[in-house]
Amino acid sequence: MQTVFMKKPIIYADHAATTALSFRALEAMKPFLTEDYTNPSTLYHAARASRKAVASAREQIADSIGALPEEIRFTSCGTEADNWALKGIAFQHFNQRKRIITSAIEHHAILRSCDFLRRVGCEILYLPVDSRGIVAPDALESAMTKESALLVSVMMANNEIGTIEPVSQLADIAHHYGALFHTDAVQAVGHIPLNVRELGIDMLSASAHKFNGPKGVGFLYVRKGIAMEPLLHGGGQEMGLRAGTENVAGIVGMAAALSEHMETLDKDRQQLELLRALLLSRLKDSAIRFRVNGSENHIPGSLSLSFHHAEGEMILHRLDLMGIAIATGSACNSKETVLSHVIQAIDVPESYAQGTIRISLGMDNNEEQVTEIASALIQVLSE
Ligand code: PLP
Repeated sequence: MQTVFMKKPIIYADHAATTALSFRALEAMKPFLTEDYTNPSTLYHAARASRKAVASAREQIADSIGALPEEIRFTSCGTEADNWALKGIAFQHFNQRKRIITSAIEHHAILRSCDFLRRVGCEILYLPVDSRGIVAPDALESAMTKESALLVSVMMANNEIGTIEPVSQLADIAHHYGALFHTDAVQAVGHIPLNVRELGIDMLSASAHKFNGPKGVGFLYVRKGIAMEPLLHGGGQEMGLRAGTENVAGIVGMAAALSEHMETLDKDRQQLELLRALLLSRLKDSAIRFRVNGSENHIPGSLSLSFHHAEGEMILHRLDLMGIAIATGSACNSKETVLSHVIQAIDVPESYAQGTIRISLGMDNNEEQVTEIASALIQVLSE
């Protein structure tokens, strides 16, 4: 995949935060940022191109995840898709069951939506995870036997440690007890093979900028027949369920980027895992003490590391000065280092937890860059 480049030459290893726009997506978007600027909801002939482009993007996206076109609803980002899934179902059934089950390691788009729903009367239950960040199906089963729930929402892959959750099994349990199942697949779509019918899920959130599409656009898959309240009220767009003039260029760019990812999914996965293994082997050859967080079953190229008696934020800043962009698992305020809820939930030992960083590799990284990242880490941590 060819992508646009950053002005400043840096080694970008934060693909879980965002990715560069692919050239194919950019080219697909251009007409809708220039001459084809019509509103797809208008009826005259000139708007045919934008209407057709939105319809064909919907088909392409549906095809990539094994859904029907009418099951895809465009949103402004992954956060909106997550908010809509939870609030849309909760408000649709507000006079009935109000229990929602989620996990302790969800993205804040889910956790803060749950906080809001709790304030307006829902009961929220957070499932624990094991040391790899996996939600045990047994934990869901016992939560469901105690009292029935309206909705279960567990992410497909975690954004900090890359762990892939047993979503299909969890969805089966939710359905067995009469609950709906949603998954936040923002880190998974375009990176691992995924089919909504085979997974047996009811809703799925995704975001274009995580798979080399543009920022500010995402989608929510909603299985045919599931009723939910709109989040945005207004015009009749998105089958009357999500008001607001469509981001035509964004939608078209998202579909182009996702189709491009689907073409090379397996090849990319192998390449990213080779790079990840190279980085790990370089670190293992050094005297640095560290732990690898997460599970063997993870998002390709994602690597969460905790270094002994170190500070993640210090490592980030030192690498930044060397032209390397990574993320941390903790954030310093003026007095102390605050660990992320994910690092807390997987019980990383205290002497390692604060030294947590996240490296997320992409197809624009190569062996030379990965070797440079390893050398920089060894240098910073040896000092
Ligand atoms: N869910 C997960 C797991 C994410 O990693 C992110 C973004 O990092 C989001 C939701 C939010 O997506 P967006 O940035 O499109 O709002």
